[in-house]
Amino acid sequence: MSENNTGRKRIATVWLCGCSGCHMSFLDLDEKLIDLARLADVVASPIADVKDIPECDIGLVEGSVANEENLEVLKHLRAKAKVLVSLGDCAGFGCVPMLRNQFSNEEVLERAYVEVESTAFGEVPTVEVPKLLPKVLPIHECVKVDAWIPGCPPSPEAIWAAVSGLLTGQPAEKKVALAYD
Ligand code: SF4
Repeated sequence: MSENNTGRKRIATVWLCGCSGCHMSFLDLDEKLIDLARLADVVASPIADVKDIPECDIGLVEGSVANEENLEVLKHLRAKAKVLVSLGDCAGFGCVPMLRNQFSNEEVLERAYVEVESTAFGEVPTVEVPKLLPKVLPIHECVKVDAWIPGCPPSPEAIWAAVSGLLTGQPAEKKVALAYD
């Protein structure tokens, strides 16, 4: 893993179709965030609301791929990240968002925008909503994935073991396994 001219590694994170829980678990690193800050800069994340993802050493992806915007963001991060990491079970296996696959897109949109009382608009919007893909997909069905951190959400210990392992060059698999002991 290479370093930029400051000698520091770079991490970028995105969330696709998920619940934000994996990022909450990332924030639950608590005091380890200080250790992380010693090793790397978080150059993009939904929390920082950076629009243009720069070149980075590690890209962390939460959420599965449910619409065209998710796919575009994922491909963009894949192009920028030396190591792409699947963060959590939605990214890794589809998890909750993949329940949508039992229904047609028309049924899903009707339910979301017309039937559900809390969001009922009376009609399905025709603009400003990214087009749904035919099926929700885990990220490895769209791009090459280099490492997985499983869990819903992954524990902060597992996230730290994997990310610190990648940053320091120690075997991530062994460290993640130890985190679950
Ligand atoms: S894996 Fe679990 S915690 Fe993470 S985005 Fe999916 S549902 Fe939320």
